[in-house]
Amino acid sequence: MRKRMVAGNWKMNKTPREAVDLVNLLKDKIDKEDIDVVLCVPAINLIAVAESILHTNIKLGAENLHYENCGAYTGETSATMLKEIGVKYVIVGHSERRSYFKENDVIVNKKVLKAFEYGIIPIVCVGESLEEREDGITIEKIRIQVKKALKNLTDKQAESVVIAYEPIWAIGTGKHATNEQAQEICFEIRKCIGEMFGEKVSEKTRILYGGSVNGKNANELFAMPDIDGGLVGGASLKEDFANIVNADIV
Ligand code: PEP
Repeated sequence: MRKRMVAGNWKMNKTPREAVDLVNLLKDKIDKEDIDVVLCVPAINLIAVAESILHTNIKLGAENLHYENCGAYTGETSATMLKEIGVKYVIVGHSERRSYFKENDVIVNKKVLKAFEYGIIPIVCVGESLEEREDGITIEKIRIQVKKALKNLTDKQAESVVIAYEPIWAIGTGKHATNEQAQEICFEIRKCIGEMFGEKVSEKTRILYGGSVNGKNANELFAMPDIDGGLVGGASLKEDFANIVNADIV
């Protein structure tokens, strides 16, 4: 049985003070104990959020890491730094990083391996553009991203990695994938992991859907057999995130 997960991705939003206010609001509203709730926040907010979530069920996540341990990489954050302040999860390969910061599948793989080296679980984002969907190459695109991101992982790592299927056309647009569209691709992701590591492993890997998830559509999306929860952008910046976490699965 896979444990459900809801992870928020705050992107470049909230100052440290605003971050504490939001966490305080959310901790009072979240009433589910049996799922993993993760807040992936800007690096500048990690320490403040780490303190605010003490004695709660919320886990600390980062939005990015560098694949080297230290050195002349101005502006970057290493896995060592994240680990020391209690980061448990890190988003890798978000489509915004792939497009604005030119992160390719090789870099994504290096980051995934580095996160695991420090005991941090990567949440690996994959997803197709609207053009790729219209050209009928969604599955091919996703399979390449998954295969490259998970290259050289051990079976144990492949069990604990989290994959977030995020169609690029659904991110921040208010237009989420239908339950069937999301399920179809999450099923393909699980199949691909099964081909790489065996079915016993792929049955344990958590696969999230991301793209305009909100308190109204979460319950149906999360009820699909291969969707184990969500990665949430816009709605994670407000009270609605608690509704997503608390959603009763239909
Ligand atoms: C995201 O950026 O990971 C995301 C899913 O954003 P939104 O929920 O705003 O579509």
